[in-house]
Amino acid sequence: MAAGDRRVAATLRIFVCLLAVASGFQIPDYDPSMIADSTPNQFRYPPGEVIVIDLGNTNSCVAGYVPGETETMLQFCIPSWVAFTDDGAALVGEAAKNHAGPDPEATIFGFKRLFGLRRDNEYEDIVQRLMERVPCKIGARNVVSPSNQVKAKDGVVKQLEVRKIASMVVAELKEKAEEHLGRKVHYAVMTVPQHFTEVSTWEAIGAGEIAGLEIVSTVLEPIAAAVAYGLRGKLREGGNALVLRVGGGTSDASVVTLIDGNFEVFGYWDDPFLGGDDFDQRIVDYFAKLIKTKHGKDISEDRVALGKLRTACEHAKKVLSNQDHAQVSVESLFDGVDFSEPLSRSKFEELNDDMFCKVIALVERAMVGAELERSKNSVDEIVLVGGSTMIPKIQKLVKNYFGGKEPNIMVKPDESIALGAAIIGHSSD
Ligand code: ADP
Ligand code: MG
Repeated sequence: MAAGDRRVAATLRIFVCLLAVASGFQIPDYDPSMIADSTPNQFRYPPGEVIVIDLGNTNSCVAGYVPGETETMLQFCIPSWVAFTDDGAALVGEAAKNHAGPDPEATIFGFKRLFGLRRDNEYEDIVQRLMERVPCKIGARNVVSPSNQVKAKDGVVKQLEVRKIASMVVAELKEKAEEHLGRKVHYAVMTVPQHFTEVSTWEAIGAGEIAGLEIVSTVLEPIAAAVAYGLRGKLREGGNALVLRVGGGTSDASVVTLIDGNFEVFGYWDDPFLGGDDFDQRIVDYFAKLIKTKHGKDISEDRVALGKLRTACEHAKKVLSNQDHAQVSVESLFDGVDFSEPLSRSKFEELNDDMFCKVIALVERAMVGAELERSKNSVDEIVLVGGSTMIPKIQKLVKNYFGGKEPNIMVKPDESIALGAAIIGHSSD
């Protein structure tokens, strides 16, 4: 799905909003007048006391500087998963993801896509497509905020707003940051995708506020990525960088340009349903077919078996980023049968050939948006962010697209957006 209208609605600001709000734990209603343009040196929070929250569809990260130290960074990620046990207790992060094995229906994930949707009917297709992929239900068309059906303590299905679910992930990150820092954290900067509308941004901020944080500003993800890779110092004035993010469920490409020492986004395209989950699904489908042929067993309706297989396939995919071969093994996958099959990197690439082409199509659309598609050598730097850019084939295709130019990639490209936003926050203390 193209960014299309959402891109038109998206703001092109570098630092989207400075919120002079101290609304406590109550979520304010959406009020565009409360969002104003800002420059980094207008941030208002005690120096060294801000953390960054990078809320992702698959993983969410927290980052920040340890006060008084210039090098030490606090930085870690957790899965953006929430689950509810039979007695109604909420699990968050790794514990929630693990809960998906025994009880897939009780888990909620992939919800970042829902921020700002359902205020009108325009985005119904995203909601429908998401419901095909996640076990939770999403509220009726005329619900003002998106809501998911989850089990409450008494077993009754209850509705929770998406920002409330997201706030549980934010609260977990806040708590972990506080443990690490040994003090309470009150202020945070949130990263937001380029395509977020003001309403989406407002909902993300609401999630932070429910978690007990005052969100002092937001930073656009591609700009945070460019800063993480040191492009503020590396690019000349007017220089361009292509930022490609391939995450777990979503991907986007942006062309950012350094103007008067600040980054602006001139070309952007995103796909809300393209990422590592899709690559995993291709492996799952391949093995499900093999199981049918070899064992005469159809596991396509067995959610628990599929969940176990998906976890093993994701693991194999990651191994294949460093090795040519991986083994996909699941003990007692079905009817007590232990499953173990090899998977080569070339087979993985073949299974995902069209998916990887879609990733390059995003790059092309962003280049067209920036009117640079005919002058690819105007791109001075290529930056890869998001966990799925660790896939060698994606790196190779991007390099080929830019005529052999080497992309920049960090050891942990999934943490670079949080890192960049922390650097921005720190340098504007
Ligand atoms: P998001 O920010 O969209 O939540 P991330 O950037 O954290 O997502 O990326 C998560 C995705 O990256 C997952 O699909 C995960 O399987 C994939 N991933 C993580 N490490 C690797 C790796 N070494 N090789 C390939 N894919 C990886
Ligand atoms: Mg991320």
